[in-house]
Amino acid sequence: MPKEVFLEASEAVLDFNNSGLSILEIGHRTPEFEAVMEEARSLVKELMSLDADHEVLFLHGGATTQFMQVPMNLLNENEIAAYTETGTWANKAIKEAKLFGHVEISGSSKENNYKTIPKILEVSQTASYLHITTNETIGGVQWHQIPYSCGVPLVADMSSDILSRQLDFNKFDLIYAGAQKNMGAAGVNLVVVNKNILGKVDRKIPTILDYRNHIKEKSMLNTPPVFAVYVAMLTLGWLKKKGGIPAIEKENEAKAKLFYDTLDSLPMFKGPIAKEDRSKMNAVFVLEDTSLEKEFSDRCKKEGMYGFKGHRSVGGFRVSMYNALTIESVKAITELMKDFAQTHG
Ligand code: PLP
Repeated sequence: MPKEVFLEASEAVLDFNNSGLSILEIGHRTPEFEAVMEEARSLVKELMSLDADHEVLFLHGGATTQFMQVPMNLLNENEIAAYTETGTWANKAIKEAKLFGHVEISGSSKENNYKTIPKILEVSQTASYLHITTNETIGGVQWHQIPYSCGVPLVADMSSDILSRQLDFNKFDLIYAGAQKNMGAAGVNLVVVNKNILGKVDRKIPTILDYRNHIKEKSMLNTPPVFAVYVAMLTLGWLKKKGGIPAIEKENEAKAKLFYDTLDSLPMFKGPIAKEDRSKMNAVFVLEDTSLEKEFSDRCKKEGMYGFKGHRSVGGFRVSMYNALTIESVKAITELMKDFAQTHG
């Protein structure tokens, strides 16, 4: 997260806007917090250039809740939802959708162990929607060509690349993302939904899971995660001040280029993902000689660099280059990699 967001958030924990109260204790129905929620929603609309049909919601439960809330609201029991199978997170979404209706796999990279993004999709035109995971956080693949013209409503899990690059957000009918990567602290989930796709399923939807109720109540159907929404508002404000998505996209491009150029120049490191599908947020890599993994890990820690271990399901290493990570930090790991390669050359 950006340093200035930490600073402002920590001040607000002690005294929110000179109110004498902490952000952790103010009531969510107060005008002060209503203004925070309104500002957060309006920043999302502005940064993503959303049209009047697209509603912005801040909800509980993380992206994992969206895996079931999406089909519950959009998929009838006797209908088909089209899903793309690109790795761990897409598979979790598929598993939940199957609880509500039929799932068709419109494209899959399972055969090559999720090292690519499927290039050809077969989407039934009767499908209620097509679901994609724009960035597979664990596997390190990212959709660079969005299937905007799939012919059915487009739904995306953007948890790990939301607000990182310019996309035509109005062409998506539903976008969801946990805040904790590019938008603030854990505890809140952003949902952007085209209100015209709602209200078409037959089932009874519990009040708290029906998007229409959250739209009506402006994300205040029940007590919202006040602090997480506040931190999201600060992070969105930071992004706006930087120049919005076009500016951060440029930085993200530069960071990814620096990292992958270094990776490709050092034979002792290998990037297992197809070059054209590499994620600009999460770069995964392995050491050609796996017996050196521990030494590399220890060296990172010794230099104060933590959190590079790949997910337990894939092993190896992963460098996450979210919006707030500076190019200097990427430079530091690339210098370390070069030095490590030289020592073992
Ligand atoms: N989808 C993606 C792409 C993710 O990276 C994650 C978490 O890392 C999730 C979904 C699940 O998010 P949460 O833990 O907020 O439920």
